[in-house]
Amino acid sequence: MALPPKLLVIEDDPAIRRLLRVTLERSGHAVAEAGSAREALSLLSIEKPQVILLDLGLPDRDGLELVQLLKRGSEATLIVVSAREATSEKVAALDLGADDYLVKPFDTEELLARIRAALRHRLDAQGAAHRIEAGGLVIDLDHRRVTRDGAEVHLAPKEYGVLALLAAKPDRVLSHAQILREVWGPAQADRVEYLRIVVRSLRQKLEADPARPSLIVNELGVGYRLKPGA
Ligand code: CA
Repeated sequence: MALPPKLLVIEDDPAIRRLLRVTLERSGHAVAEAGSAREALSLLSIEKPQVILLDLGLPDRDGLELVQLLKRGSEATLIVVSAREATSEKVAALDLGADDYLVKPFDTEELLARIRAALRHRLDAQGAAHRIEAGGLVIDLDHRRVTRDGAEVHLAPKEYGVLALLAAKPDRVLSHAQILREVWGPAQADRVEYLRIVVRSLRQKLEADPARPSLIVNELGVGYRLKPGA
């Protein structure tokens, strides 16, 4: 039998930590817990988690600093858990290498869905076909081809660039700056207006209802996420 996926929960609030452990174990994960940054770093090499849930507000070390240390010290997918008001912290965490974030207080189903997505990506990264399907839409990353109900959708190069980047990490949020850096280049990383224009045009071409997008969704103040389940 395959071992259950190992998760490391880094959270200083004992009640939340306990809740997370119970929830995650009930859904079949093995869970290690750390109540501080120091404890987390010492557990990292022993537990070798596949997914890390990191509360940014820890007593003994700046959460953002810990993002870098954790990414440097392990191969784990890192999901940051942060308070609603701290948009700039979420963006900073993503830009420092975090793979996703959740807003506190989070919904249990949403948390489990993010973890499933993280584990799925890890499998995909080991060499599955790069093909994303959502409703009638097929994004074929290997052939740089997008079809909607069987008909080819013509995309401008920047449109394809943004879509391909999001599609390569379905269900994951990418910050505005990350997308701009990849598609436009580092010098344009703060030109969010360029990105908005391209996303608007992509939605016109791809969404069933461009005014209420279900494929390329906004993460308010942070970036965009592609939802393949739409
Ligand atoms: Ca905390």
